[in-house]
Amino acid sequence: MALRIDGKKISSDIKEELKEKVAAMKEDGIFPCLAVIQVGNDPASTVYVGNKKKACAYIGIESKAFELPEETTQEELLALIEKLNEDDSVHGILVQLPIPAHMDEKEVIHAISPKKDVDGFHPQSVGALSIGEPGFVSCTPAGIIQLLKRSGIEIEGKECVVVGRSNIVGKPMAMLLLRENGTVTICHSRTKDLREVCKRADILVAAIGKPKFFDETYVKDGAAVIDVGIHRNADGKLCGDVDYDKVVDKVSAITPVPGGVGPMTIAMLMNNCVEAALRLSE
Ligand code: NDP
Repeated sequence: MALRIDGKKISSDIKEELKEKVAAMKEDGIFPCLAVIQVGNDPASTVYVGNKKKACAYIGIESKAFELPEETTQEELLALIEKLNEDDSVHGILVQLPIPAHMDEKEVIHAISPKKDVDGFHPQSVGALSIGEPGFVSCTPAGIIQLLKRSGIEIEGKECVVVGRSNIVGKPMAMLLLRENGTVTICHSRTKDLREVCKRADILVAAIGKPKFFDETYVKDGAAVIDVGIHRNADGKLCGDVDYDKVVDKVSAITPVPGGVGPMTIAMLMNNCVEAALRLSE
């Protein structure tokens, strides 16, 4: 029977570990603090920001919320980021994406100091990951590595196939699997014979944003399958990029949706905040 990789439990273990670490840091006079900026009031973003604030409170990280109106200008947002870059009491800066269409997302990401880039989106963070230097790693792929390691799934020497090449999931995922000595293939919308490539995978990471796309014909017997996709159907039920019911009897391990990759993203964000506070206090 396949191991159902329990992202809820693993993320809650990580949060408990961080809570203890933060308590010890506070005894040494280090008080981690995350600045969370939201521009406009997109309802989904409000939920995500609320969850991040809640996780901070649980772990003992101070969160400073900046709720800016939709009509905020690019210059005003950049000025706030600059102020937070200079503020020694703030260790992590997060701008909830997407930002309103009149703003330049790239310029905003570039404005955050790499030392406080807890989302790991700054080009310097991305570059550090690819050359193996310390830096912050995008939270979702970092969380997937934790899911694999904490479930006892070996990466070294394994055929790893990542489907999707976005800057926040696919590409950093591939770099992290490579860092763990996996043999990595990245697939995308122009890949020929996607099914055949996926069937080579010992570890298959599905991150394309297409509900239930991957069925049993895409997986090898005994593979470990990580489903990054999140979709809500008409009845409000969540599903992933993988057709769980069709695949589960064929694989050795699989992440469910919900309760797999999803909960790990916030846990790794919290981890990055704690790491930022430690590095900035050295
Ligand atoms: P993007 O839309 O940015 O990227 C999708 C990638 O999938 C692209 O590289 C695209 O290829 C590729 N792709 C699309 N269709 C196909 C196909 N039919 N065959 C092969 N490759 C295909 O998505 P994200 O990376 O941001 O997110 C992927 C999924 O993960 C989404 O469902 C998203 O909601 C979810 N997600 C979940 C998170 C979590 O915390 N669990 C966090 C972030 C995302 P090409 O480059 O050629 O266009």
